[in-house]
Amino acid sequence: MTSPESDGPYAADIERVVVSAADIQEKIAELARKVEADYQADTDSPLLLVGVLKGAFVFMADFARELRHPAEVEFMAVSSYGSSTTSSGVVRILKDLDRDIAGRHVLVVEDIIDSGLTLSWLLRNLASRNPASVRVVALLRKPDAVKVPVEVAHVGFDIPNEFVVGYGLDYDERYRGLPFVGVLKPEVYGAA
Ligand code: 5GP
Ligand code: MG
Ligand code: MG
Repeated sequence: MTSPESDGPYAADIERVVVSAADIQEKIAELARKVEADYQADTDSPLLLVGVLKGAFVFMADFARELRHPAEVEFMAVSSYGSSTTSSGVVRILKDLDRDIAGRHVLVVEDIIDSGLTLSWLLRNLASRNPASVRVVALLRKPDAVKVPVEVAHVGFDIPNEFVVGYGLDYDERYRGLPFVGVLKPEVYGAA
């Protein structure tokens, strides 16, 4: 897959497509079937999907619509201190959940796991609120994720260790609306 697959305003900035829009949609259906199987004993209690803003908003929208299990949707916003392309693991909650999760089955819906620092912090934070369970579904994972081992129930794609944009992921708040995941042309960074 090498064509930008999009004629939007940012298409010309894309060097290469890493995961195509069609492959993403197909994978989301697979992930939804797996999650349905995980919780089939609990069809009476709605699952609490927790998306991590902003990056996960597109994955959450598609995943929540594909999932055939009762579910409620919640979002948290966290900021991990660091530059725009790396994370430090020092996390601050910018927007917390709107409700108590005690006794609930929580599924964290993540866009990408890079170092895993943000996620491991978040999982500890959520676990301290006494949920019935906390699991993670992530669309993308990079090789560095092994450095901070976090248990992820399901992963869509293992991708190379490159900075990617699209499908919710930004560079300098741009490119989130692209329907695929891709790598930017090097000259884009120079211009920012
Ligand atoms: P981690 O703490 O796992 O290193 O990274 C956490 C967050 O950093 C991700 O949820 C995502 O928001 C951001 N991030 C990590 N890798 C990438 C990437 O390749 N592209 C973009 N746009 N954001 C990333
Ligand atoms: Mg994220
Ligand atoms: Mg970002």
